[in-house]
Amino acid sequence: MRDYKLIRNIGIAAHIDAGKTTLSERMLFIAGKIHRMGEVHHGDAVLDHGREEQKRGITISSAATQLNWNRNSDEFILNLIDTPGHVDFTVEVERSLRVLDGAVAVFSAVGGVEPQSETVWRQANRYEVPRIAFVNKMDLDGADYLNVIDQMRKRLAANAFAIQLPIFEGHEFVGLVDIISEKAYRWDDLKSMEFRECAVPNELLAELQSSRNDLLEALAENDAEMLDLFLERPHEINEWVIRKSLRKAVIAQQVVPVLAGTAYRNKGVQQLLDAVCDFLPTPAERNELIGWDTDDSELEVRRSISEEAPFTALAFKVALDEQNRRMVFLRVYAGNAATGSTVWNARTGKRERLAAVYQMHGGKRQALDQLHLGDIAAVVGLKDVRTGDTLTVANHPMSLESMTFPEPVVAMSIEAGNSSELVKMANALARLSDEDPTFRVTQNKETGQTIIQGMGELHLEVCLSRLRNDFDVDCKVGEPQVSYKELFTKPTIQKERLVKQDGGSGLFAVIEYELGPADAEFLESDAFKDGKTRLQFVNEVRGGAIPADFIPSVRKGFEQAMNEGVLEGHPMDSMKVRLLDGQTHVKDSKPLAFEIVAQRAFRSIAAKAQPTLLEPIMQLEISTPEEALSNVISGINKRRGLLLGIDSRVDVQIVRAHVPLKELFGYVAALRSATSGRASSSITFAHFAPLVRDEVKA
Ligand code: GDP
Repeated sequence: MRDYKLIRNIGIAAHIDAGKTTLSERMLFIAGKIHRMGEVHHGDAVLDHGREEQKRGITISSAATQLNWNRNSDEFILNLIDTPGHVDFTVEVERSLRVLDGAVAVFSAVGGVEPQSETVWRQANRYEVPRIAFVNKMDLDGADYLNVIDQMRKRLAANAFAIQLPIFEGHEFVGLVDIISEKAYRWDDLKSMEFRECAVPNELLAELQSSRNDLLEALAENDAEMLDLFLERPHEINEWVIRKSLRKAVIAQQVVPVLAGTAYRNKGVQQLLDAVCDFLPTPAERNELIGWDTDDSELEVRRSISEEAPFTALAFKVALDEQNRRMVFLRVYAGNAATGSTVWNARTGKRERLAAVYQMHGGKRQALDQLHLGDIAAVVGLKDVRTGDTLTVANHPMSLESMTFPEPVVAMSIEAGNSSELVKMANALARLSDEDPTFRVTQNKETGQTIIQGMGELHLEVCLSRLRNDFDVDCKVGEPQVSYKELFTKPTIQKERLVKQDGGSGLFAVIEYELGPADAEFLESDAFKDGKTRLQFVNEVRGGAIPADFIPSVRKGFEQAMNEGVLEGHPMDSMKVRLLDGQTHVKDSKPLAFEIVAQRAFRSIAAKAQPTLLEPIMQLEISTPEEALSNVISGINKRRGLLLGIDSRVDVQIVRAHVPLKELFGYVAALRSATSGRASSSITFAHFAPLVRDEVKA
């Protein structure tokens, strides 16, 4: 039996280049799981096993891997969920935040808190993920641990406290003082990861006392027992009392303890692994599960996080193994299930067999005979399980909140290099979109062209490169295009009739309705924001003029029609329908008639309701040296951008702006050359906004 108290599901979150990959490698190495050190420089890191990731040196898809760590003679199991640093891959960040229980936030001791770290930090806040922080690259000149903590407080509003102090000799980072135990350690030499205890250097004694005091005060603020000790019996406060109180504070997200080290030089990694075991929550320390009844999506179902509870797991990722077999990654929240047993998919209502279950370790894996609470594992052989599906047992149905994915904003046409490649390309595209829910493949009805859609230029580039290298597909692509949406701007009332009564069984439906833009309230609702529906439908029919049985068909008809707008066939962003009145026929009125009449009603009123095009607007965060600031701002103005603000930081200016995506193709390269590579940017989707008329023609 596995003891879930000894399990930690953690992710490492960081700004790109802070050292997340190096740190993950060192954790695996030090925990003795791998016998060579994969250097990122050489592109053979164990976690970044995708070929594309190695080439770009960035971590794109979340791999889950396991390591064991001995802490106070307990053998802990750490599931390491790798999260990407690049914001073009928000979906990967979001899905890993869903399945991990705690995170290590990595910062560079020189770069500190960068704009992208803020984005990831806010996402982690939203998912209420308990965190500890690791200030990496302490070996570099200019490393400033306390300054990074200060930045965490100011820029992230984090209640961050040092639990270590670095020991320097000249410019050399040679050891650490542990604030909690009041002990100090030195590494044997610059290259070594071996360390031994030493006396706390005199020049750090005062700093140690004041930092320890700050930490104790912060703990006492939230912990009555600690407050009592702190005020009345300070001599009774020992290392273990502090650790216990700090653990509570971290899990309640009241305090973020900060450690220091250098992954590259193997320093501080053991202490970080200890801190993960000491302070981050077990899988059982989550709040109870909240989901919905599978038959009635309004009915809330709660389930305790325990081994006795019915098996409940979330499919959070689909990937292909080396033999191109489909692997579904599961996170088990409650209960157990044996390999070979049958589980139930809440979305399809079908049974699925857990034919083969594996523990992943980078590209390698190990077969498991049982899935336990807290496990993160890959299952091969599931037939119809997609990302976001809940797997549970049929006699205890429940669906967890599905994962919602943003709508793609960039599209490209794609064509097979020659006709013999057609089938191969179609299969490869289907597999890519199976793995990545934000990568979509559609057909243009008029031209018959295949269109691929994604979250940004880089996202599509990565998908294309996989298509060519991993699937060996020869293909040509068009220029990237913005994905527009359409919107009605003027509420309009009209009547629509469907009368088809030429003998035999006929169709009859009449509706009177108003069609127009959705209300602000609807646009703020969870149903709209989570992508459940884009139609605000209000039934105002009185006196049974349309029987209740037909109302859902009217709604369905409008919902289907919305997928293709009247201007250029883009989907409608949102829309409001008020169903006012109608007529029926005894024999010929049926659900199908009302569905068709609604579709016609959408098209016939469209021009009068003044449709307009909406374009995606992106949020830009550019970090630039002062000298290049005016250059950056004029670039934003040239691109129809709206400047939101400029933040001055020690050595850089942070510019925030909203810019239409259409103007941003090639921007990253242009920015690099305009600033000789000194400015960096992050681009995320912000919202859709009406396109100004002249741009429509451009
Ligand atoms: P990621 O983008 O966050 O995954 O960062 P990587 O692990 O790929 O590291 C980015 C670069 O920083 C690589 O060249 C690493 O070798 C280097 N690096 C990572 N950790 C340290 C460190 O502690 N000290 C120094 N000097 N360099 C480091």
